Amino acid sequence: MSRLLLALVLAASPALATPPPTALVIHGGAGVIERSALSAADEKAVRADLDRALDAGQAVLRDGGSALDAVTAAVRVLEESPWFNAGKGAVFNAEGGHELDAAIMEGHTRRAGSVAGVSTVRSPLLLARAVMERSPHVMMAGAGAEKFADQHPDIERVAPDWFDTPQRRQQLERAREREQKQMAALPGTYFGTVGAVALDRHGHIAAATSTGGMTNKRYGRIGDAPVIGSGTWADAGCGVSGTGWGEFYLRTAAAHAVCARVALAGEPLATAAEAVINGEVVALGGDGGAIALDANGKIAMPFNTPGMYRGWVKPDGSRGTAIFRNEK
Ligand code: ASP
Repeated sequence: MSRLLLALVLAASPALATPPPTALVIHGGAGVIERSALSAADEKAVRADLDRALDAGQAVLRDGGSALDAVTAAVRVLEESPWFNAGKGAVFNAEGGHELDAAIMEGHTRRAGSVAGVSTVRSPLLLARAVMERSPHVMMAGAGAEKFADQHPDIERVAPDWFDTPQRRQQLERAREREQKQMAALPGTYFGTVGAVALDRHGHIAAATSTGGMTNKRYGRIGDAPVIGSGTWADAGCGVSGTGWGEFYLRTAAAHAVCARVALAGEPLATAAEAVINGEVVALGGDGGAIALDANGKIAMPFNTPGMYRGWVKPDGSRGTAIFRNEK
């Protein structure tokens, strides 16, 4: 049999030509998520939205789509969900408004796009992707990013109060009260940022993160999520999306640090992610979590807060969601 014929036979036979493994991992933020504070109904709703995000990303990967499209699809679902601190349901800043950050990165090309401090863009992630694909830049902020959005009619705009939810307003009020009493900020005044990392059939990795930042944050504060290498990173062998106290992820270049350990020190993904998120970040006084994925489809989801909303689809097709620490 000629080689060509053999190749054709293999391609036509599903039993022989198993497609290369794909994998997906998502987060809906780390923070103080206590079992007692989450009603059964709310927990069900949160898990349903995590599942919908997994469905969206998994469908792309199953159809042979790119990791980039898979993380975009998964994060879009989470941005639209009021349960997470990204898009609808983003936290309030100190002025009672919203300034949203997002980033996306494709590993094998190292293309990246990000936006910071936008307030009328329904999906900051889609705008970050537009920066990557339709501008010569990597990062755009504030009024400039909004102007860039003006030039792309497919980027949907909303009134700034579209992002409001009563729960987030309550969080802001509590944060302000504590500030007035000169008490320390509540732990977990962040949480709910969303992210996804995917490995596609071509062995390519992409990562994406979208967030409202931290409750009661000050003018112009930019967190780690849109900073390439801090909250979001992908290279040929590894991808990471972080969630937590952004200042510490910035100071440790956390997402890049995880993948650098994998690439340069040859550490297994889980060891690298553990060392950065539960080691370096904590040693400086920060907290939070991250999701990470390598080119073999290995997944790591370290966090040091009481909970982290998360979901995964492994290369063998098994999938799940979890919220609390003691869940598998
Ligand atoms: N890391 C985000 C920030 O600092 C917040 C979060 O993950 O919830 O902006």
